[in-house]
Amino acid sequence: MSKIRVRFAPSPTGPLHIGGVRTALYNYLFARKNGGDLVLRIEDTDSSRFVPGAEEYIIESFRWLGIRFDEGVGIGGDYGPYRQSERRGIYKAYVDQLLREGHAYIAFDTHEELERKRAEVENFQYGAATRMQMRNSLSLPPDTVERLMAEGQGYVVRFLVEPGEDVVVDDLIRGKVTINSTVLDDKVLYKSADELPTYHLANIVDDHLMGISHVIRGEEWLPSAPLHVLLYRAFGWQDTMPRFAHLPLLLKPVGNGKLSKRDGDKLGFPVFPLEWHDPVTGEVSHGYREQGYLPEAVLNFLALLGWNPGGDREIMSMDEMISLFDLAGCSKSGAKFDYVKAAWFNHQYLLLRPDEAWVPEFDALLRSKGIASTPEKEADVVRLMKQKVVEYDDGPFGKKKRNISFVSDLWPLTRFFFVAPREFDREDKFIRKNWTATSASEMQSLAQVLEAVTDFSAAGQKAVVDPWAEQGGFRPWNAWRICLVGAGQGPDMYELAAHLGKEETLRRMRYAIETLG
Ligand code: GLU
Repeated sequence: MSKIRVRFAPSPTGPLHIGGVRTALYNYLFARKNGGDLVLRIEDTDSSRFVPGAEEYIIESFRWLGIRFDEGVGIGGDYGPYRQSERRGIYKAYVDQLLREGHAYIAFDTHEELERKRAEVENFQYGAATRMQMRNSLSLPPDTVERLMAEGQGYVVRFLVEPGEDVVVDDLIRGKVTINSTVLDDKVLYKSADELPTYHLANIVDDHLMGISHVIRGEEWLPSAPLHVLLYRAFGWQDTMPRFAHLPLLLKPVGNGKLSKRDGDKLGFPVFPLEWHDPVTGEVSHGYREQGYLPEAVLNFLALLGWNPGGDREIMSMDEMISLFDLAGCSKSGAKFDYVKAAWFNHQYLLLRPDEAWVPEFDALLRSKGIASTPEKEADVVRLMKQKVVEYDDGPFGKKKRNISFVSDLWPLTRFFFVAPREFDREDKFIRKNWTATSASEMQSLAQVLEAVTDFSAAGQKAVVDPWAEQGGFRPWNAWRICLVGAGQGPDMYELAAHLGKEETLRRMRYAIETLG
C-alpha cells in the first residue's frame, strides 16, 4: 500500500474556526497513528474572500496547539508550492485536459444573464436541463465561440455533468453515500477573469499531485464529494482517488443546528483558537488561548467531539490519542459543543501541572491588580487553592459553581493572601454568626498560644493549638478565619497561617480584635 498522506487545507477567509481545528487534529492523529505525512495547504484561489492575516493566524494557532505539519506552507517539502495562488501555472493544463476530452466546456454567460435566468426559473440550476439555453461552447456555433475567445470575452470553464447516474461516495465514516448526478450542477472550475481555478478543481488536482491518500474533512464538504468523485474519473485518476472521511458537524450547545460564532458570543465561550482582530471591522473575537485554556486541554476536548476511543476514557495524552485513534470510532451524528466540559478539561489539565507552572500567569494576574509577590508564595497559594470551587456566570443559565478552570479564576479567591483585611462587613452572614461576644478574648488567647509556637508549619501549629482548644473547649476556627481572611472562605486555617507566617498572622489577629472588638 502506498504511503498514508493527509492534508489540512484551509482557505484564508478569516480566523480558523474551532471546527477546523478539530479537522486538523483528526488528520494529525490519523497521520501519526499510521506513520504518514500531514500537509498544510493554503487554498487561496478565491481572491474575493481573501482576508489579510488569516494565513498567519492559522499557522500561529497550530504552533500554539502543538499540531505539527510535516510539509506545507511555512515548512516546505517535495510537493510545493503549497499555497494555491502560487500554483496557478499548474492548473491550466488540467483545465485544458478536461476541455479537450469533453468533460468540461466554456461558458460566456455574464453575471447579469445568470441573475436574469435565476429570477425567471425557479431553483435554476446550470446543468443538463438548462445548459443548451445558455451561452456556452455547447450551445453556440464553434465560430462564435472562437470569435468570442479571440475578442477576449470573459468566460468560465464548467464541468459537464451527465445526468441520471448514481454517484457513490465511499466514506470511511458514513459508508456508501449515493447521489444521483441529476441533482448536481455544472460547477465552475476555472475563471478567465483572474486566471484561477475554483476550489473544486484546485482541490482535486492538488490532492492528486500531492499524493493524498485520505481526505478527512468536515461534513459541510460532503455535498461536494460526488462532484469530486466525478472529477477524479474524468481525469482518469480513479485508481488513486483518496479515501473520504467526512467528520460529524459540531452542534450548538443548546437547541438545534450547527455551532456558530453567535452561540459563543451569547453563551460566553470562544469559537476560535486565538483572539482575532478583524482587519476590516476592528471587531475582536475571543480565543481559547487568551481565555486561559491550555492547548492540551483544548485538543483533548476536541478529540472527543465526534470520536469515541472506546470505554469511558476522557483524559488522554497526545500519545494515547494517537495510539487509539481510528476513523471507525468516529460518529456520523453531530457532536454537541459542550463548552462547560471544555472548562472541566482545562481544570483537569491545570491540576496535572506542577504548582510552579501556574506561576507566570498567576503572577501577571496579580501584577495587573497591583500586587507584587514572589514565585514561591504564588506557587504555595496555588497549592492551597487549586482544588477550590468558583462561582461563575453561565449566561442565560444563571450563576453556577465549577472547579477552578483557569488561572484567572484564582482572583478574587486568593486576594486575602496578598492583601490583609482592613474592613469587616458586619452585615456579612458569616461574620455576624461567628464573631460573638467571646470572640475577641478567645482570639487574644489564641494569639498568645501562637506566639509561643516555635515550629510555625501547619503541623507544628496543630500540635500545640489542637490540645489547647480541646482543653479549653474552644472552637476558634471561624473567628480566626475572620481575622485572617475577613470572610468565610479560604483554605485550612493552619495552612493559611503557616503561609502568612507568624508575624503577619498575629498582626491580622490584633487588627481584627481591635476593629471588631
Ligand atoms: N479549502 C477548504 C476549506 O476551507 C478545504 C475543504 C477540503 O478539505 O477539501 O475547508
